[in-house]
Amino acid sequence: MTYEFKAQSGFQEYFGKSHQLVRGSVKEFVTGEITPFIEAWEEAGEFPRDIYKKASDIGILGTGYPEAYGGTPGDIFFQIAVWEELMRSGSGGFVASLGSLNIALPPIVRMGTEEQKNRFLPPVLAGEKIAALAITEPSGGSDVANLQTTAVRDGDHYVVNGGKAFITSGCRADQITCAVRTGEEGAHGISLLVIESKTPGYSVSEKLKKTGWWSSDTAQIYFDNCGVPVDNLLGEENQGFYGIMGNFQSERLQLAIIDSMTAQLALEASLQYSKERKAFGKSLKSLQVTRHKLADMATMVEVSREFLIG
Ligand SMILES: Cc1cc2nc3c(=O)[nH]c(=O)nc-3n(C[C@H](O)[C@H](O)[C@H](O)COP(=O)(O)OP(=O)(O)OC[C@H]3O[C@@H](n4cnc5c(N)ncnc54)[C@H](O)[C@@H]3O)c2cc1C
Repeated sequence: MTYEFKAQSGFQEYFGKSHQLVRGSVKEFVTGEITPFIEAWEEAGEFPRDIYKKASDIGILGTGYPEAYGGTPGDIFFQIAVWEELMRSGSGGFVASLGSLNIALPPIVRMGTEEQKNRFLPPVLAGEKIAALAITEPSGGSDVANLQTTAVRDGDHYVVNGGKAFITSGCRADQITCAVRTGEEGAHGISLLVIESKTPGYSVSEKLKKTGWWSSDTAQIYFDNCGVPVDNLLGEENQGFYGIMGNFQSERLQLAIIDSMTAQLALEASLQYSKERKAFGKSLKSLQVTRHKLADMATMVEVSREFLIG
């Protein structure tokens, strides 16, 4: 049972015919390729790598990225439509992990040289390589400006030492967009490096067992004298904090969509269950207290979507 939004907030002006077409393709993809297997992938703690390729082949992996690098250009509402429909899989972990490129690649698009964009974007947008973003550290995440992983320049390489925590897609990532300290304490001593996981000194020290989002592999990553070419520095040295800040808006939007769609799916499941389940000779749905609860849930879902898109 799906829940139709009641609010007349003009969502339709944001989602035109082409957005609806994309929504339709994602729906078909989710129904055919994801839903039948998602429970097993949640148990397995990851989903097959070829899903990235399949998502790329139908043009939804690179939504919003320049065509020159293998993307499918479009406004933010294409991405919203894609993320909302992917959430119909019922797994926030799947959506977060399939979408880890959407936090890893934007700093490369914004700060990278042409050579770096050509090297790091096409394989990921083609679904051949997995990209992750590595900012958080075991010592803390909110206080980004205080990160401790160091990168010390030695000729044409940076020698990276330290570790990263809670990295989405981190167990399987081929490349990470990684925040490191190259300078003074605080926000002005941070740089962004693209580090390939095959680099000697790079290791996944732990696959984390989480309370939810199981099909998303979440890693602790460890750097032990990991030599990263200076050519992999994004933008100027010590300017990385701006690259991290540039990601915040879109990261918040993606997470808000995951959360609001999770609430909507819970409402839909509750509506279905309360219709089927009988108590005292009636369906739960016909009991006043249940109807109040469902009305409260529907109100919160409407409000959340209104804040998200309206
Ligand atoms: C499933 C999952 C996936 C993730 N994926 C990634 C990823 O791909 N890449 C990545 O880099 N990180 C990732 N993270 C890390 C995430 O960004 C951090 O968890 C987040 O930044 C918070 O950091 P922390 O967990 O270290 O909490 P802390 O910073 O230690 O905060 C602990 C608590 O204190 C509160 N707090 C902190 N500072 C303040 C303050 N100034 N005022 C009031 N309250 C405060 C926080 O709200 C929180 O409740 C992921 C986390 C999870 C759980």
